[in-house]
Amino acid sequence: AAYFGYRMCIRPKQASIESLHNAEATPPPAEFDMDDLKLCHMISRGRYAEVWKGKLEEEDVAIKIYSSHYREYYNNERTLYRLPFMDHDGLVKFYGADERISQDGTAQLMIVMAYIPLGSLCSYLKNNVLDWPTMAKMLQSVSKGLSHLHTDIQKGDKFKPVLAHRDINTHNILVRSDLSCVITDLGFAVATMGSKLIKRGHPEIAEQTSLTDVGTLRYMAPELLDGAVNLRDCEASSNRLTFMLWGLCCGRLPHAVWTYTRVIVLDILVIDYSAPVPDYAAPYQAEVGSSPTFEEMQMIVVRAKRRPKFPEVWKDTNQARLTALCVEERLADLSNLWAQECKHRGMTPTLNAMINVDQTAL
Ligand code: ADP
Ligand code: MG
Ligand code: MG
Repeated sequence: AAYFGYRMCIRPKQASIESLHNAEATPPPAEFDMDDLKLCHMISRGRYAEVWKGKLEEEDVAIKIYSSHYREYYNNERTLYRLPFMDHDGLVKFYGADERISQDGTAQLMIVMAYIPLGSLCSYLKNNVLDWPTMAKMLQSVSKGLSHLHTDIQKGDKFKPVLAHRDINTHNILVRSDLSCVITDLGFAVATMGSKLIKRGHPEIAEQTSLTDVGTLRYMAPELLDGAVNLRDCEASSNRLTFMLWGLCCGRLPHAVWTYTRVIVLDILVIDYSAPVPDYAAPYQAEVGSSPTFEEMQMIVVRAKRRPKFPEVWKDTNQARLTALCVEERLADLSNLWAQECKHRGMTPTLNAMINVDQTAL
């Protein structure tokens, strides 16, 4: 229950909102010299922008280039990255933003950020199977980044509002060489205060459409689909995070760990701790009973491609979604859990089994 009690909730002073407004109205001079920026090759071409690998002096950088047609998204991303306290381990590091006229006379609006070597989590998961420690590390870093976005911070005259990312998915999470992750792509993100969106420095009543017009429908929080517009609740709940982590856990783990992981991780992510704890049941207990034959197991796992069921008693209790901060706190113990489980079973904590990975969850 302690997990639910804690939420940072500092009301900003009016002066802070003014400073947000000023930051947007008169952006600081460019953070880098355009002459020092070199484009090397394109990494991705999306609907609104291209992303290039490049160099800023000696530093490897990624450069997201919007055409002037999408200036609105560029301005939004730039404004949010320039907010105070955005330099955080769970967010991609922002180096600056500037624009130039290319040779064909069109404007290129550029967001320059740290180059993250292993690319998107989506492509990483397609090409790699995770072991437990890696999964724990990824889950932790993503939830840290997201809970930082969701936290408002006021120190002196510096103010960071609550930010709702609105497009959390595995394409917008990047994997560092040490396999921790960072959140990127603030194109759709919004700054909020209570139930209001901050637009051009001013709090505005949120329209229903401003909450539901972006992002992947499948990941949409139930209360948004249901028409609620209480931002304070929806930005703090972690529906998208849950779906993404679900994919991460269910999709790319060796089958042997997968069974165990799924229950633990689902417990951490979607179960209110006040929900009843189910009686112990071996994986596939309901389907094959307590002493299945090899053929029965083969039939159910390989041919029917079934996976252990979500415990019945939790079926109606998984309505409660945790805030990103709660998830972060609960995940802190994940690495230890695995070590304990290995000890308990007399296993070594390293895994190299690569059996039957189910990709459908991605
Ligand atoms: P879009 O708004 O078009 O989705 P993103 O900012 O999400 O643009 O970037 C698109 C893709 O480019 C990402 O999914 C990722 O593969 C790659 N990418 C973006 N930023 C970086 C970065 N800093 N380092 C490495 N790859 C990146
Ligand atoms: Mg993206
Ligand atoms: Mg985007």
